Amino acid sequence: FKGEKMGDTIAAIATPQGEGGIGIVRISGDDSLNIMKKILRPCPAEVKPRYAYYGNIVNPENENVIDEAICLYMKAPHSYTCEDVVEIQAHGGIVSIRLILRTVLDCGARMAEPGEFTKLAFLNGRMDLAQAEAVIDVIKAKSEMPLQIAERQLKGRLGTEISEIRESLRDVLAQMAVNIDFPDEDIEQVESQRFCEDLSKVKEKVQNLLDTCDNGRIAKEGIRVAIVGKPNVGKSSLMNALLGENRAIVTNIPGTTRDTIEESATIHGLPLVLTDTAGIRETDDVIEQMGIQKSHEEMEAADLVVLVLDGSKALSPEDVKILNQNKGQRVLVVLNKNDLGEAVSQDEVKDILPEAEIVQTSLLRLNGADAVTHRIQEMFLEGIQNMQERNIVTSERHRDALNRGMESIVDGMNLLEMGESIEICELQVHNAYEALGEIIGETAGDEILDTVFSKFCLGK
Ligand code: GDP
Ligand code: ZN
Repeated sequence: FKGEKMGDTIAAIATPQGEGGIGIVRISGDDSLNIMKKILRPCPAEVKPRYAYYGNIVNPENENVIDEAICLYMKAPHSYTCEDVVEIQAHGGIVSIRLILRTVLDCGARMAEPGEFTKLAFLNGRMDLAQAEAVIDVIKAKSEMPLQIAERQLKGRLGTEISEIRESLRDVLAQMAVNIDFPDEDIEQVESQRFCEDLSKVKEKVQNLLDTCDNGRIAKEGIRVAIVGKPNVGKSSLMNALLGENRAIVTNIPGTTRDTIEESATIHGLPLVLTDTAGIRETDDVIEQMGIQKSHEEMEAADLVVLVLDGSKALSPEDVKILNQNKGQRVLVVLNKNDLGEAVSQDEVKDILPEAEIVQTSLLRLNGADAVTHRIQEMFLEGIQNMQERNIVTSERHRDALNRGMESIVDGMNLLEMGESIEICELQVHNAYEALGEIIGETAGDEILDTVFSKFCLGK
């Protein structure tokens, strides 16, 4: 975090940069109120916290008016950063809001780093690190499901669960310390047994959280759906039908390579990332082969493979091959073109892929597209909705810390069972305690903080 110094007064534009009804400049730090007094006309000598003051923002050097504004003062520690905060709400014009920021900086504030306001909130103990991360997740949520999960994390529920787990570990550590300081061979055996039991309970709790990771990733980033099949079977038609009513508000991924197109959609609040892969077939053409290679990779990385077949023609050897390639995958088979006939039976598909879900469609007439969305929803939504009452781990960083915590707990238990000294096991328990602490930021070093807050936008 370059340039950061506690005690500085920082400022940034808090609203998106562009034309808008209102634009906000946020100031945080000891000098915030002084700066407000320097640039707001009229401004009372005594500014009350949480009152709205209307006036003009001026350049104090020449009293030139920049824009009308409403100023709010939030007194420390009752503000987002726990410091004195002033928000200047002016017209949301690109020039006016930048000029106001310029003036604030001229009055002694320093330009805030991305995420610095939230970092202050974290450093001043207003939120734990997982809550700070939830702030970005809320801002970046592209549909309702990830928003709900982030809101829960923002309330601190995940942090509370982690803290409770760490408390159990701390109890074990404290009792281990007694054993180490006052060794007693007679009871060590008994104690080891008890530590193992305690750790086994902790292990279960960590495992419960780890179990939510897969669905957590899906709920946050979207179900990765690879649409595959031979050329001409109706992949693009399916893609368009799925996007038709469900196209995500933001189609964020332009990733249009030669052979795959990525698009975002939302079904019932659940984000979907769809890729239409190159037609899979045998070829000598090198470039085409690269495309095919790519679609194989996509099939493997996908949460769901939607395999489109021309259901009006008997299965070709190529179809059979593609079906076989998807053994072990979660597959939804779409038997398309059933307006032209039904040459492929569901049983034929089941013979090769017993676990596959099957839907018949006639996408030319948009028949069956609903059934496809419905089926996808059934396949995924339930698992995620069942977790709504609990904390869901959506962050790769959290998963990594949980995994390391888990490893240390398991190692510690193994050592105890092997009759190793409690001193050696204590080290593992301590490692687990530290690893879990990274999630809430208790044991997070500068490097972790830098990575977390660099993902923020300016002004947050
Ligand atoms: P892709 O090559 O797999 O992406 O297939 P397309 O979606 O581009 O479709 C190939 C051709 O099949 C197009 O001419 C579509 O209009 C046609 N097609 C797609 N779905 C159907 C269907 O359900 N019935 C019929 N009769 N034609 C379809
Ligand atoms: Zn296509």
